[in-house]
Parts: sequence; C-alpha cells; structure tokens
Amino acid sequence: MSLLVTAVLALLGGHFLLGSLLLRSRAETSRLAATLRGTRRDLVRQLREAEHFRMACEHASDGIVIQTLDGAIIWPNPAYCRIMDRSPEEMIGRNPLSFALPEDQTPSHQEIRAFRYDPDDPAYDSLQLHRNRRKNGELFWNQISTSFRKSAAGEHHAILICRDVTAQIEQEERLREARNKLAHEATHDSLTGLANRSAFLRFTARALETAAQTGRPAALFHIDLDHFKAINDTHGHSAGDAALLHVARALTSEIYTDAMVARIGGDEFVAVLPDIRNLDDLREIAARIGDSVSEPLEWNDRLISVSCSIGAALSPRGETDADTLLLQADFALYEAKQRGRARAEIYDETLHRRHSIRSQRASDLADAIDTATLDHVFQPVFDLHSQSVVGLETLVRWTHPEAGTIGPDDFLPIADELGLMGALDLGSMSEALEQKHLLDKGGHGGLTVSFNASSSLLAHPEFVNRLVWGVEAGGLSRDQVAIEVLETTAFGKVTENSSHAATIRDLRNAGFKVYLDDFGVGYAGLAHLAELAVSGVKIDRSLVGNVQQDDTAAKIVRKIIELCNDLGLSVVAEGVEDRQTATTLLNMGCTTVQGFWVSRPLRPADLPAWLEARSANRPLRMISG
Ligand code: C2E
Ligand code: CA
Ligand code: CA
Repeated sequence: MSLLVTAVLALLGGHFLLGSLLLRSRAETSRLAATLRGTRRDLVRQLREAEHFRMACEHASDGIVIQTLDGAIIWPNPAYCRIMDRSPEEMIGRNPLSFALPEDQTPSHQEIRAFRYDPDDPAYDSLQLHRNRRKNGELFWNQISTSFRKSAAGEHHAILICRDVTAQIEQEERLREARNKLAHEATHDSLTGLANRSAFLRFTARALETAAQTGRPAALFHIDLDHFKAINDTHGHSAGDAALLHVARALTSEIYTDAMVARIGGDEFVAVLPDIRNLDDLREIAARIGDSVSEPLEWNDRLISVSCSIGAALSPRGETDADTLLLQADFALYEAKQRGRARAEIYDETLHRRHSIRSQRASDLADAIDTATLDHVFQPVFDLHSQSVVGLETLVRWTHPEAGTIGPDDFLPIADELGLMGALDLGSMSEALEQKHLLDKGGHGGLTVSFNASSSLLAHPEFVNRLVWGVEAGGLSRDQVAIEVLETTAFGKVTENSSHAATIRDLRNAGFKVYLDDFGVGYAGLAHLAELAVSGVKIDRSLVGNVQQDDTAAKIVRKIIELCNDLGLSVVAEGVEDRQTATTLLNMGCTTVQGFWVSRPLRPADLPAWLEARSANRPLRMISG
C-alpha cells in the first residue's frame, strides 16, 4: 500500500507547513491564508486522488502487484489474490517465482534469492505470457505487463499488471486447431491420411522445378488397386477401405521420406520421388511396391488377396511438366492393365513410341468424329420363317489414312476416353436414319434399322429429341427404328441405372424399339429382364457361336428364347455363322438371326444390290423341318 502511504505522508507534510505559517506577521496573513487555502485544496485533491487510486486498484479486474526489485511482494490487489487463489498474507514478502510457476519450473531457493529485476531489460517493454499455477494447482495463462517506478522514498519498485487470459488462449488454440484441420482436410485424403490430388500436383510441380535446377531426375508412380470393385462387392465396403489402407501403408513403407504419396481417386494412388537415378531404380521400386501390396491382407479373419497395377515415368532433368509426367505414368499404367494387371510398366522409349502413336490416333479420331467422316456399314437381320431380311444394324468403321479400316472394338475405347462417345453415337444415329429414309424410298420400306447407343448417348440431354426430330424430318415410322443398348450399359453402374431405365422408357413411350444387346453375358440375367421396358434382346454372339458344341451355352440360349417368347419379347440371335446354328436356333424357337451366315456388314453403296439379290433368289433356305 506504498502509494497510499506516500499520499498520507504528503498530507502530514502539509500540516507542518501550516504550523510555521502561523508564526508569520499579520500583514502576510491574508496572503498566507490564500496560499494556505490553495495548499489545502491541493491536499484534499491529493487525498481524493489517493482514494480514487485505491478504489481503482482494489476493484480492478486485472491483478496488480507491487514488488521490490528483489521480487518480494509489497502489495497485491484483490484481483491478484483471486487470480492466484491466495490471501495477501500468504504472498506479501514472497517472490511469486516461489509459488506462481508450475512445479517443475519453480526455481531453487538460491535462484529465487539471487533474483533481481533489471529495469533496463527491454524484455519488460512488452507484454509477457507465462504459464502460472494457482494455489489449488490449476494452471493458467498469465499475461503480465511490468513497469518500474521510484517511490517518494526513492525506492525502485516493480509494478505488475496481470491478466488471466486462459480462456482467450484456449479459444485461439481451438481456432488454430480448426484452421489446421481445415487446411489438412483441404490437402489430405480423409480415409488414408495421405496427401490428396491438389497437394500432389503442387508437390510434383515443385519436385520438377528442383529436378530442373539440380539435373537429377524425378519420378512419378501411378498405382491402381486391381479389382477394387470386386473386393467391395464380395466383402463389403469396409473391406474395400481396409484394402485401400493396406495399399497406403505398403506405399508409405516402400517409399523414402522425401517423396510424397497421395491418393488421387477411389483406388488410385500416386507417389512422386524426387532425386532418383534412372529407369532401373524405377523398376526396382515398382517391384518392391508390387510385392508389398501383394502381401495378403487379413480382414475379419479372412485373407483378402490384393494386387496393384503400376505405371511409372521419369523426368530425367525436370523438363517434363507435372501433367505430362502424370499422362506418361498413366499410359504406362494402362499398358500394365492391358497386359493382365498385377504388374508394373515403366514409361521407356518403346512405350513412348506407342504412346505417341496412340495420342496421334486419338487426335485423328477426334477430328474424324468432329468432321463426321467416320464410315458406317449395315448388317442385315434375317427372319428364318419368312425367309426375308427384316432389318439392318448400323455399325461404325474408321478408315484411317495410314492404318486402313479400324474396327470399333479398337477405337471406341479411345472415343470413350476422349468423352466423344455421345457425339460418335449421334453420328451413327443420323446415318441409320438416313439409310432408313433411302431404304423406304428404294422400295424396302418394311425394314427396321437399328443403331447402338452407348451410356453417353443415353445420358445425352438432347438424344430423344434429336431422334424424334430426325424421324419426323425423314417421314420414318418410329416402330421401324430400333436402339440397341448393351446389357452392361442398361444394368451397369447403380448411379446410371435409373436414368438409363428412364431413357429406355421414354424411347419406348415415343414408339421406338429398344433391344438389350450382347444379352446373356452381362449382369442382368433373366430375372431382371422384365424390369426394363425393352422390346427384345439380342443374344450375345459368344453364346450363339457355341450352341452346337457347348451344352451349357445351348441351355442358356434355350432358356433366353423361352423366356422371351413367354414375355412377348422379340429375340435376335447374333453371330450366326453357319446353317447348322441357324437350324438349331430355329428349333429352339428363335426365328430372327444376324451373322456372317446371312451377310457380313455391308457398305451403303452395296446394300441395294444385295437386298435385290436376296429377295430374288432367297439363297438362305436351309430349314430341315
Ligand atoms: P455388336 O453391337 O454386338 O455388333 C455386332 C458385332 O458382331 C459387329 O462387330 C459385327 O461385325 C460382328 N458380327 C456380326 N456377325 C458376326 C458373326 O457371324 N461372327 C462374328 N464373329 N462376328 C459377327 P463390329 O462391327 O466390330 O462391332 C463391334 C461392337 O462395337 C458392336 O457390337 C457394338 O457393340 C459396337 N459398335 C459398333 N458400332 C457402334 C456405334 O455406332 N455406337 C456404339 N455405341 N457402339 C458401336
Ligand atoms: Ca449391336
Ligand atoms: Ca451384340
């Protein structure tokens, strides 16, 4: 309470002054009286100020403590007592260092005795934050501002203003944690804790920059878990997650610390390795990753076998950009999958040449689709009862300037990767409608023309409208236009199922025919057949081709035909290559066939003559009875 003491001393000093004044002459009395009045006013003001000062200190919410420069407490205000959970008596004369710090940080008696404030220490110019301890042991954050003042008696004192900022610090801590978590989530995959795609792309760009500076190669591995869907389907999604974690662990254990491992898609991982020596290193690391992933995964008392396909690419001097390096690793991965999975392929000279050709092909194909210069052929569909051609299927061909004619099985996957299947199919649809129009005009009005519709076409928002518009423009009859949808497309991904089913229904409601193509080898099975509003099925040629020699194939074909006949669905057998097969099918109750036995797909220019010849001399008669 030294400031209060100082104030009181000052007041007493005033009284001594008053005594001496009384001895002066009367003439000075009035002047002195005036001076005295002024002095009394000063004293009263000082007393009042001291009172205010006392009130402020005692009611301040901040702790105030006055110490000697040796650290001994002279006076603590009530807030300081509250913060410390101690009475003034417990603290006066003691250095807070002896009781206010966490126990393991409390200095020794000697250290405390040796303590002395250095008022010139610049550390005291700013706020300090200390972890402090209350009497009950509770720790808290104490924010302290320290200043030094000389008392009226000429002694230096330290005045500390203390504030318990624990709530604030904890709040900041929570905010920081939340921010860190958000930042982590933005750059990491939540299941495996690995980096995500965006973090990976940034890391790769940096690794390539470093490679360009140091001249040391950087490498990229693209790893794809084999048969992930089958693991999910067979063992459930938690097994799928376990398999992903298994791959993540295998990758992080096989790859050194400077590298980054990221999960960039459902079952796709990448690893970027800066500072690698050569392609042999790449092969060795890829082999190690493959081995590690192939170790059996124990899950719920079951052993799940896991394998991966790996594509790896090297940027020798960091000259390749991140996207290109990823494309090269992708291409190598594609090759690994093509060659049977569970293996690694390295992007070397041979793959580079193959990749260049494929890229060029892809670009040529995009041009051909864009300029509508793909060709179309038409394969007749024949009715064994009436011995007449009843339809034509439109099939796409690509005549490449160097490679010659390329079949759809070779270029449809490229069109699909390019996202051009919808455009390609719209082209086939136009050709089909055009051909139907020509046939109608040329006296073959009864023929049904079909075209194949990919998932992209079914999902195309304009598909049904354009079809209706094309049919109206050509004056065609809707029930002589058929759309062939692969069984795997119609029953493929669960997410697409319902919308494809809706499109199929729209097409049927609009009066078109819809056939399930390649039926019998996909997912649907007979039980689901009634669910889709299709007009009929086309039995896959792999089944039809085997009806003669394979009992199971024959049984399946017979069942499909029976069921379709029961359900009132049309059935077409595809891939009929000989008379015997046709006879067998007819005996099973299937009257409509398509295949090389009837005719190979025909170019449009050859169609009229072929149709004329068929209706003239009916060479397909073969029925034995
Ligand atoms: P698909 O729809 O099953 O077409 C029948 C395929 O079987 C055609 O092959 C045809 O040439 C072939 N084929 C016909 N008869 C026989 C036979 O007796 N024996 C054998 N071994 N094969 C026969 P292509 O033209 O190579 O077409 C392959 C597949 O490509 C088609 O199978 C179809 O799924 C798809 N495709 C063709 N054109 C298009 C198109 O414009 N759009 C879409 N989305 N897919 C198409
Ligand atoms: Ca077809
Ligand atoms: Ca087919």
